[in-house]
Amino acid sequence: MRPGRFLTCLADPEELSVAPPIHQVVNYSAPTAEDFDALNEQSQPRHYYRRYGNPTQARLERVVAAAEGAEAALATASGMGAVTTIVVALLSQGDHVVAQHSMYGGTLSLLRDVAPRFGVGVTFVDQTDTDAFARALTPDTKLIMLETPSNPLLQLTDVKAVTALARARGILTFADNTVATPFNQRPLEEGVDLVMHSVTKAISGHADVQAGMVLGSSELIERLWRAHTMVGSVISPFDAWLALRGLRTLSLRAERQNQCAQAVAEYLAGHPAVRVVNYPGLPGHPQHDLVKRQMRGFGGLLSFELRGGQAAAEQLISALRLPVRSPSLGGTRSTLVRPAAMWSNELTEEELAEANVPGGLIRFAVGLEHEADLIADLSQGLAALASENAV
Ligand SMILES: *Cc1c(COP(=O)(O)O)cnc(C)c1O
Repeated sequence: MRPGRFLTCLADPEELSVAPPIHQVVNYSAPTAEDFDALNEQSQPRHYYRRYGNPTQARLERVVAAAEGAEAALATASGMGAVTTIVVALLSQGDHVVAQHSMYGGTLSLLRDVAPRFGVGVTFVDQTDTDAFARALTPDTKLIMLETPSNPLLQLTDVKAVTALARARGILTFADNTVATPFNQRPLEEGVDLVMHSVTKAISGHADVQAGMVLGSSELIERLWRAHTMVGSVISPFDAWLALRGLRTLSLRAERQNQCAQAVAEYLAGHPAVRVVNYPGLPGHPQHDLVKRQMRGFGGLLSFELRGGQAAAEQLISALRLPVRSPSLGGTRSTLVRPAAMWSNELTEEELAEANVPGGLIRFAVGLEHEADLIADLSQGLAALASENAV
């Protein structure tokens, strides 16, 4: 999609105010007893009680739904709030889920540690192997959970092929689209039933909002909304309002971050101290054909390993001046972390090994700095490494 068209679809057709108002309100009143009775029968009322919905939240839901090409959406207090709501709403004792080895750490922990306690079985597969999804299916499989490109390895799942498998068997599919953003990829168009976002990342885009979102058909969102009123992962109106403010520049930020990450990935790929760079925009990406078929742009996230392994990685991370040593991604400032360190309180060492996250892997999420400045900083950091090793 061209950026101009993307910006147009981010305008809310139902509102006349050019910038959104904020409804910092928990409860609304009904004019009569009959009106109050009617409110209690309504699904997803906006003017009743905040846990059931709120006008600012509803506006955010309409705008992200337009960006993803979805019929309906449900905003939550965090990305994990969205994932938990999906699990609670759609799965029961005896059900089975197929998920990927490489997914967001919180999603992996929920599936490994919590789902089995409620009698839900999970099989994890290599996302690059479509046949592995087919082999993992059982008569009890109710949900296939995808994340593409995955964090932090930037591997792709063939969404069209996996959703075709699921459709044929009446299994629901879910895709975490946080890393790509709707600017670069729209999984609902590839046949996925539910798309999820950590709105905390690029959608809000300024490292000051924690929120999540699930998108799909009105019927599925209605089921999720019922569970959501019990899970209680409610977005605050102020966070919804800030996310709306961030969304107005999503296409500009996403386009810049695509360009910047491409330049940084190409620079790193050409540096002798770098062993491997994981970025969908590099022609050497092992799934380059699928990348071109499935993604419109390649995103702001990349990861790489140095020839000097974990020790060199720690040294480089400390030597860089521009990116901040911090979790999260999709913000205005570049962040870099060793994912193995970041996930050590969520996953055991074996689980990290199973998720294929090497100790020396560095994850780099570009912000809105100029690529020339980021490359100059990487160049001084890598030069310091080389001179130290030479001594
Ligand atoms: C951050 C993130 C999440 C979790 O979102 P929160 O808002 O932190 O709960 C899920 N998936 C991906 C890919 C993420 O980056």
